[in-house]
Amino acid sequence: MQEISPLAVAQQQLDMAAEKLNLDPNIHALLREPARVMEVNFPVRMDDGSVKVFKGYRAQHNNAIGPAKGGIRFHPQVTMEEVKALSMWMTFKCGVLGLPYGGGKGGVVVDPTTLSRSELERLSRAYIGAIAAIIGPEQDIPAPDVNTNPQIMAWMMDEFSKYKGGVTYPGVVTGKPIINGGSLGRSEATGRGCVIIIREAAKRLGIDLHKATAVIQGFGNVGSATARFLAKEGVKIIAIMEIDGGIYNQDGIDPEELLAYRAKNGTITSYPGTRPIDNEELFTLECDILVPAALENQITAANADRIKAKLIAEAANGPTTPEADEILMKKGRFLTPDILTNAGGVTVSYFEWVQNFMHYYWTADEVNSRLEQKMVEAFACIYQMSQEYKVGMRMAAYMFSLARLAEAIQSRGWA
Ligand code: NAD
Repeated sequence: MQEISPLAVAQQQLDMAAEKLNLDPNIHALLREPARVMEVNFPVRMDDGSVKVFKGYRAQHNNAIGPAKGGIRFHPQVTMEEVKALSMWMTFKCGVLGLPYGGGKGGVVVDPTTLSRSELERLSRAYIGAIAAIIGPEQDIPAPDVNTNPQIMAWMMDEFSKYKGGVTYPGVVTGKPIINGGSLGRSEATGRGCVIIIREAAKRLGIDLHKATAVIQGFGNVGSATARFLAKEGVKIIAIMEIDGGIYNQDGIDPEELLAYRAKNGTITSYPGTRPIDNEELFTLECDILVPAALENQITAANADRIKAKLIAEAANGPTTPEADEILMKKGRFLTPDILTNAGGVTVSYFEWVQNFMHYYWTADEVNSRLEQKMVEAFACIYQMSQEYKVGMRMAAYMFSLARLAEAIQSRGWA
């Protein structure tokens, strides 16, 4: 998936913000690596009766402000380095939104498309069993990420509850089905949040969303929800890229119709009225808004100078390398960083966890209006900081989050 180490990218981003803030070197050293990582190798019985051993990880970056929080990814290219980086980004993301969490992340090295449903269930349960000793509602709370979904969260919650002697622990994972203690609004929260950030950025940049065009890489949970909410704001989606190919139509693509088409045909690539497009062309298209919503390291020194979008909204985690960041800054592109742009997911995960503790559940309107308020406030605060310190939005977001974290670390007596 990546030649550039996501951990090196995360550490470089931290180093730059630490320098600007003149951060205590002990705090800096503490934050360069996760506080705890676990590697597990666990057996899963396959449908044909054989047993396969899978490798998984869980990283807990920091818990100065609260328990670790972050998704679980099922992907053949998951590595310990990637999981560590993702856990670091989660710490800073929670800080940007003022959530009482540190960062966590998990992953299993597996291509889930090769598994049957029952194999997927046994793998999900076995992984949670293997890391059960270090997770829990007050310790570390996983959630969905790439290739994991509410059904998988329900199996994981059930398995953890068995591990705890049969008491149901809904708050051990978020992103669950509603019936198992999930929150209304969680499944589309990341995309909804992305579009709130795009809308706030567009206001500052003078982009009229009713006349704007957007290009999206990735049409999974986050990419498809972002496309749907952007279309509702009046934005014309002219290109969408998926793992098996992309589509382009200058007159616009209706995301709802595309979702229905994919549900029937299993792919977006043959969608009528569009022409094929590859990733290289996608990133360099003439458009107002570019949304990477797939994986890390997509915007690099190799393509950054050819990006024409005025606004780049990082829906994915870590899609831009530090070299590409610099190029985009020089070219005057406005970038909203992942730790702000895609924080809608963890924000509604936080609401879900709070509701699980209260055993009292909010309406969709309550969830969405609280999300709206938090995202608008976070954008305004980071934007103001970027203006005040004359730095990009990523640096401002890191500085804001890091200052908060440093205060918590100091007052706990860790530095
Ligand atoms: P997902 O598995 O639902 O979707 C990912 C999509 O990206 C898939 O449709 C896949 O086909 C596509 N893809 C993969 N490689 C690609 C490539 N090279 N080119 C084009 N498309 C490609 O995962 P998701 O939950 O939508 O996550 C996407 C990104 O958003 C990840 O970086 C994830 O960490 C981040 N994120 C997710 C959430 C969440 O709530 N799910 C929250 C915050 C951040």
